[in-house]
Amino acid sequence: MTAVFTLSLLIATALKVWLSIRQTRHVALHRNEVPQAFSRNVSLSAHQKAADYTIAKTRIGLLELTLGDIVLVAWTLLGGLSALNSALLQWLGGGMIQQIAMLASFVLVSALLDLPLTLYQTFVVEERFGFNKMTLRLWLIDLVKSSLIGTLIGLPIAALILWMMGAVGAQWWLWAWCVWVGFNLLLLLIYPSFIAPLFNKFTVLDDESLKTRVTALMQRCGFAAKGLFVMDGSKRSAHANAYFTGFGTSKRVVFYDTLLTRLSAAEVEAVLAHELGHFRHRHIGKRMLMMFGLSLLCFSLVGWLATKAWFYQGLGVKPNLNAPNDGLALLLLMLSLPVFGFLLTPILATLSRRHEFEADAYAVEQTSGPDLCTALLKLYEDNASTLTPDPIYAKVYYSHPPASERLARITLQIR
Ligand SMILES: [Zn+2]
Repeated sequence: MTAVFTLSLLIATALKVWLSIRQTRHVALHRNEVPQAFSRNVSLSAHQKAADYTIAKTRIGLLELTLGDIVLVAWTLLGGLSALNSALLQWLGGGMIQQIAMLASFVLVSALLDLPLTLYQTFVVEERFGFNKMTLRLWLIDLVKSSLIGTLIGLPIAALILWMMGAVGAQWWLWAWCVWVGFNLLLLLIYPSFIAPLFNKFTVLDDESLKTRVTALMQRCGFAAKGLFVMDGSKRSAHANAYFTGFGTSKRVVFYDTLLTRLSAAEVEAVLAHELGHFRHRHIGKRMLMMFGLSLLCFSLVGWLATKAWFYQGLGVKPNLNAPNDGLALLLLMLSLPVFGFLLTPILATLSRRHEFEADAYAVEQTSGPDLCTALLKLYEDNASTLTPDPIYAKVYYSHPPASERLARITLQIR
């Protein structure tokens, strides 16, 4: 197990580094010229800003990768998790409390280790490119709120799953998965009304002409939503967006205020039609089904691995002889799975890009292709997304197709 894990980690890291280097090179190489297809709509300075931002983010990604690998090896092969486990065993004895304490300390330590880089990302990188609108105070308040919510929601569910692992028998993973699915659906249901308002203000959209337009579009598409809202996204960042939340009859449309200030009414309509396209093609449901399928796979994997001594030993942990190992098994899977799961990244990204194309096509049918094009260009520019990513990097990582591919498809469809 140790050899397989080490080898996979090395291969995944090498691939990621190679991709990042390709991306940085490709973007830097095309920095000084706006691609011909965009030369009329995108200024050289905007193009260069996007290049610099992309390179800065890719570099941070490399730093994050290196630190992440070090932390991962420290937890596993270097014995960090094992040490934490024995220290807590000595202090609390073996049992539920000890296991919860272990999960909680793991999350806490990981979060603390992440903090410096997150701070750097927000207050140095995003700041330098004019995207950050957060004060340190707001950032701290956010941190406290999300930690509290995470604890309130995470602790009971962790306790429930640990309890099932000990009490339900060999098929515990199937039950635990059902709980997990139910819990995720519940979260989706309560997120728009109870969690999102803790972080942002949502006001009813009061621009009458836009409201009429949007309502007509939704009627045309056979889509019923409970309301149209504007979110104060500008409080944190200059990035713009629009989305739907909730499901069933509690669906709502949310526009970032940053989107409404940047786009014309026709462009907002086109962007919304794109989002409606995701609904029409049932992308959200399909994605959820896939995630639930993958999580079933993960749960069955822990169900199997939790009873194998080589799994613990291979990842640097001495399993307990007189106490449950369930918490350890969960943590080890959580730590090791992303190493092997990296292979899934391009598959999921490809699927996501296909969905984006389908949603674009729907938007063109329902609204106007040229409006969608100009809206997308503005959004790419506002988010400083590079117009010239490395093709292989984009294939592996991009959840949205590069601007050139999207606009080419739309143009083809209009013709
Ligand atoms: Zn989309």
